[in-house]
Amino acid sequence: MANNDSQQDFGIKEIVAHAKEYGFVYPSSEIYDGLQAVYDYGPYGAELKKNLKDLWWQAMIKLNENVVGLDAAIFMHPLTWKASGHIDSFNDPMVDNKDSKKRYRADVLVEDHAALLSAQGQTEKAQQLVSEMNRLLDANDLTGLRQFLMDEKIVCPVSGTTNWTDVRQFNLMFSTQVGSVAEDANVIYLRPETAQGIFVNFLNVQKTARMKIPFGIAQIGKAFRNEIVARQFIFRMREFEQMEMQFFIRPGEESQWYEYWKDVRMKWHKALGIPAENLQFHDHEKLAHYAAAAVDIEYKFPFGFKEIEGIHSRTDFDLGNHQSLSKKKMQYFDPQINQNYVPYVVETSAGADRLFFMLLCNGYKEETTGEGDDVKTRTYLKFHPALAPVKAAILPLVKKDGLPEIGRKVFEDLKYDFNLIYEDSQSIGKRYARQDLIGTPFCIAIDHQTKEDETVTIRHRDSMEQERVKIAELKDKISQAVSIKNIFKEL
Ligand code: ATP
Repeated sequence: MANNDSQQDFGIKEIVAHAKEYGFVYPSSEIYDGLQAVYDYGPYGAELKKNLKDLWWQAMIKLNENVVGLDAAIFMHPLTWKASGHIDSFNDPMVDNKDSKKRYRADVLVEDHAALLSAQGQTEKAQQLVSEMNRLLDANDLTGLRQFLMDEKIVCPVSGTTNWTDVRQFNLMFSTQVGSVAEDANVIYLRPETAQGIFVNFLNVQKTARMKIPFGIAQIGKAFRNEIVARQFIFRMREFEQMEMQFFIRPGEESQWYEYWKDVRMKWHKALGIPAENLQFHDHEKLAHYAAAAVDIEYKFPFGFKEIEGIHSRTDFDLGNHQSLSKKKMQYFDPQINQNYVPYVVETSAGADRLFFMLLCNGYKEETTGEGDDVKTRTYLKFHPALAPVKAAILPLVKKDGLPEIGRKVFEDLKYDFNLIYEDSQSIGKRYARQDLIGTPFCIAIDHQTKEDETVTIRHRDSMEQERVKIAELKDKISQAVSIKNIFKEL
């Protein structure tokens, strides 16, 4: 029996096709040929994403006495984005190739070229390229950047030429108007990050929830960025969801809390079943306009190690700027040291959609068994039971002899605790295969023996092993597998 599970490395193609075929992710408004970089989540995708967000929320709010939640609006006062620096600095350098007419982010072209050189062993040259690009971007020398692309022979992947237009800065915020009459209308932005809703509510939360520093505010919500190049499925979208936590601390304690949250967040990803070798830290060379130190947690996607979450030491940049622009004090009185100060912030910022994509890539398995003419392939999604869209399928072996009635009763008993599927037609093999494709960890088969001794078989998704258990034990067995306590006891 051959099992090549461990050496699997699937391309995006299989995963995207599977996600669509089995109800996880559809292109947005597909009947009109879709909308670039926007996606909809189908029935199993919506469950998986909700479970993921719930686990993040529980890990933040339940496991940390000093972290509380918030649900701020997407629209905010336009000055918010002046204070945060997004109006002036939230830009990407954009460049077009005159031959292929394709548009790129100039920094991504350089980074991809550097990654290629690194892979060929030219690490030093690759580092030089990235440093020089960062120097040009910091100096806002866009003419220099264009020349640099040409001098270094960084070509368009489509046309193969260096026939580049001027590099232009492109602001990533979407804008619209509030107000019904055009003359009265004010420009308003769709938030490009959820964090600012937390900053402007810092004192509201601190006072009303009686928080003492250090404390955190966590939030999950939509964010919008007019990305220049949308690529790689749900990796880079124009509408996406963030799970962010701002941790407010005493100035001077930022290094210690930065290390603390780096460690906790890395452990969280591992606790979801992502192997350590597929995760890594990547320190930022070029810091965002708000950051004093920043690191990405990267996952090894089929297209390489890429960011899934950022940990940023944001100093008092945001609160300080909001204080200056709003003329409202953003200070905290620290009774332990008898001082007023604007707190420093360490943030953890994860993308729900990117983590979802990671779970799909990590979970997608094709297992080949048998030899010669007898080769069979089994495809399944190996999700942690707590994340799996459906926890168990109740499957009477045949649709007669009173088995469906027992199955229905089991379903009724368990449905308050778990998301279940009941199915009593087609062969049991076909029904198992269907559950594998959506990642259901337990298939519960009801057979003739059930009528005699009230036992059923549990068929385990990953090992395909079968186990005989009492109906009365089912709830406890599934509860243990999906228990948050079991997942996070190491955290
Ligand atoms: P990138 O360098 O990939 O553009 P970023 O550094 O701009 O990402 P942050 O501003 O740190 O990203 O945002 C925090 C998290 O939000 C990212 O780690 C990512 O998971 C998610 N995210 C950011 N932009 C997008 C997007 N366009 N689509 C999906 N998720 C995103």
